Amino acid sequence: MFYNSTRNSRVKVSSAEAITQGISAEGGLFVPEEIPKLTPDEIKAVGDMKYSDRAAFVFSKYLTDFSDAEIHYCTDNAYSTKNFETESIAEIAHLFDGTYMLELWHGPTCAFKDMALQILPYFLTTSAKKINLDKKIVILVATSGDTGKAALEGFRDVEGTSILVFYPEDGVSPMQKRQMKTQEGGNVGVCAIKGNFDDCQNGVKAIFTDNDVKSLLDEKGMMFSSANSINWGRLVPQIVYYISAYAELVKDGEISLGDKINIVVPTGNFGNILAAYYAKHMGVPVNKLICASNINNVLTDFINTGIYDRNRQFYATVSPSMDILISSNLERLLYIMTNKNDTIIKEWFGKLASEGRYEVSDDIKSKLSDEFWAGFCDDEQTKAVIHEIYGKYSYTCDTHTAVAVKVYNDYKAVSGDDTKTIIASTASPYKFSAAVLEALEGGKSDVDEYSKVDRISELSKMPVPSALADLKNKPERFSDVIDKSEQKAYVLKILGI
Ligand SMILES: *Cc1c(COP(=O)(O)O)cnc(C)c1O
Repeated sequence: MFYNSTRNSRVKVSSAEAITQGISAEGGLFVPEEIPKLTPDEIKAVGDMKYSDRAAFVFSKYLTDFSDAEIHYCTDNAYSTKNFETESIAEIAHLFDGTYMLELWHGPTCAFKDMALQILPYFLTTSAKKINLDKKIVILVATSGDTGKAALEGFRDVEGTSILVFYPEDGVSPMQKRQMKTQEGGNVGVCAIKGNFDDCQNGVKAIFTDNDVKSLLDEKGMMFSSANSINWGRLVPQIVYYISAYAELVKDGEISLGDKINIVVPTGNFGNILAAYYAKHMGVPVNKLICASNINNVLTDFINTGIYDRNRQFYATVSPSMDILISSNLERLLYIMTNKNDTIIKEWFGKLASEGRYEVSDDIKSKLSDEFWAGFCDDEQTKAVIHEIYGKYSYTCDTHTAVAVKVYNDYKAVSGDDTKTIIASTASPYKFSAAVLEALEGGKSDVDEYSKVDRISELSKMPVPSALADLKNKPERFSDVIDKSEQKAYVLKILGI
């Protein structure tokens, strides 16, 4: 398997090269040359494996330059009960008839980002060895809250790497901020940006592709890589849990092999739902992929009209990990849907950069509406859904997952479709305790963050994850706040260049 760049189809690299580079030199994203196919029997067999072997099986189709031993080294280290609270790694909760919550947040930072970021450091260091790269790898991360912490945990004290995370100063939850500011490890850095997630992400992308910065790093024996979902090594682990969940439902007799399911994903950067798209095209029988957004509904409009327009008000919501107006992974989807038309991709994404807007062709519009259904909801609706689900099923979900549930309810009402459905549950409710508690009890509470957490625990009857409880006593190590124009200088300063 080789990987092309979305902005130059002639680029052809191995997975080890794609993972170490993160992003292609001309700014494109790496995409596998073709989507490997699984037979129904292979999918069924996945159900009999433990999670780390499920992952190894899927990776063997994509990381063909890795030996079996290398793949298992990565999967065995990442997906064990050392790092995850549940044996199954990706737990399925049966919510109501035919609706399943795929709980992806039992890892060390309580968000689904752990599913990929627990393994990415192993992928990256193994890849670097394979291609005889003897440079120190510098991970730059832009985060809307969850990626930053998950990447910091994944990379802390990993030899041969260092990591620097940028987050929007006022764009993350108090718990997310505390998680990052108290991060331990000798190779980590954290800095707030006066701006939103898109500012952080644009800054990081610009630094990655800045040739002057690159050669400065080169002279010092360093190179950049990315832990954002622009890195293929972030995306491929996310394909696993959709295949795994389908196989598990077959094994449990909830569905029969071959039955179609819907998959609902609360979406920001379009990474998680793109992984579901890959799972579908590998052979998981999917009826609709349902893209759920908060009030930053640029993707809802795009899927419904074919016009991507980021020229709109940006809102800070109670689901901050989805407060994004530039969804990077859409570039991969459109590259696939245009049959690798790098010229048109360059045109569209050039327009996105210069005018903030592009419109896809009619052919792509119809492909989008065949595969996807899109909707959004606001903060009031998000909280109302948390309240409703708790009342009906004694189940406490976080704000992002609630957006998915609300959009799924809307989909069902409009379509009348009663296909069994997997909802990606992307974070622990404890990470967004203010909004969750307000939703559960009605009315704002002015107690401190940890009292809110304790109260949610009483109501939900779920123990507080130790990783969050422990934060209370940890000292804050990082307090820098900078202007977005200072990002590049800051990176050079931290790296001692
Ligand atoms: C990152 C994140 C999302 C959005 O996922 P994308 O892959 O960026 O679309 C949704 N929910 C939570 C809790 C997240 O951390």
